[in-house]
Amino acid sequence: MGMKKPEDVVLFKDNKRIDGRKPNEIRPIKIEAGVLYRADGSAYVEWGGNKILAAVYGPREALPKHIQDPRRAIVNARYNMAAFSVEDRKRPGPDRRSIEISKVISEALERVILTEQFPRAAIDVNIEVLDADAGTRCAGLTAAGVALADAGIPMRDIPVACAAGKVEGKVILDLCKEEDNYGEADMPVAIAPLTDEILLLQMDGHLTYDEFEKALDLAIKGCHIVSDMQKKALLKKYEEVLEVE
Ligand code: ADP
Repeated sequence: MGMKKPEDVVLFKDNKRIDGRKPNEIRPIKIEAGVLYRADGSAYVEWGGNKILAAVYGPREALPKHIQDPRRAIVNARYNMAAFSVEDRKRPGPDRRSIEISKVISEALERVILTEQFPRAAIDVNIEVLDADAGTRCAGLTAAGVALADAGIPMRDIPVACAAGKVEGKVILDLCKEEDNYGEADMPVAIAPLTDEILLLQMDGHLTYDEFEKALDLAIKGCHIVSDMQKKALLKKYEEVLEVE
C-alpha cells in the first residue's frame, strides 16, 4: 500500500485489472482438507499466488500451567512466513507483522470456537505461508477455518476471510500483489458466514465512508464464495473416507 507506482504499471484499464480480473472477481482458489498426518486437523490453500498450510493441534492441556484459563480454552494462532515465500528472502522468525497477524487471527478464531467446552486447554493453529502474493492473512484464516473443522473442534461457524480495497478510485475485491503495493486501500475482512458477524476487519490506506460500505459489502460477498469452497473441501475429504471404508 502506498508504494510509488512505476510509470509502466497500469492497474486498471477497460474495466479490467492488471491480472485481467473484473473489479468484483476473486483470484482462483483451491482448498484441500486433511493434508497432514500428525496434525489433529489440517488444510492446504492456494489462493492466487499464495500457498498456505494450516495445522491444528488440540484441544490439549495448556502448558505451562500458569497460562491455563480455568473457564475456557486458549486459542493460539501462529502465522509464519517461510524465508523463501517472498521475492527477497525473509528473515526467519517472528517479526512485528507476523506477531500482529497471529494476534488478530487468534482473536477472530476465538469468536467462533466453543472455548468454554475445554477449560484449561490450548488449541494451537499453525499457519505456514509457503508462497506469499498478497492477502495471506485472509488465505491463512480461511485455511485455519478448514483445519479447525477437520480437527472436529466445536465451532459456531466456519470462519472465512476475503479482502476488498481500492485502486485508482475503484472499489475492488481480493487485491493481488501489484494492487496491494500501489493501490489506495486494502481491507481484509473475516466473518462467520451463517450470521455475517464480523470477526476481523483491518484497513491499510484510506476509503471514504461510501467506499467503505461498498468495500465491506464486496468483501462479505467474497467471503461467501470462499465459504462454499471450504465446505466443498471438507465434504470431499469425508466422502473419500466413506468410499474407502
Ligand atoms: P497480507 O499478506 O495479509 O496482504 P500485508 O498487506 O502485510 O499482508 O502484505 C502484503 C504482501 O506483501 C504479502 O502477502 C507478501 O506478498 C508481501 N510481504 C509481506 N511481508 C514481506 C516481507 N517481509 N518481505 C517481502 N514481502 C513481504
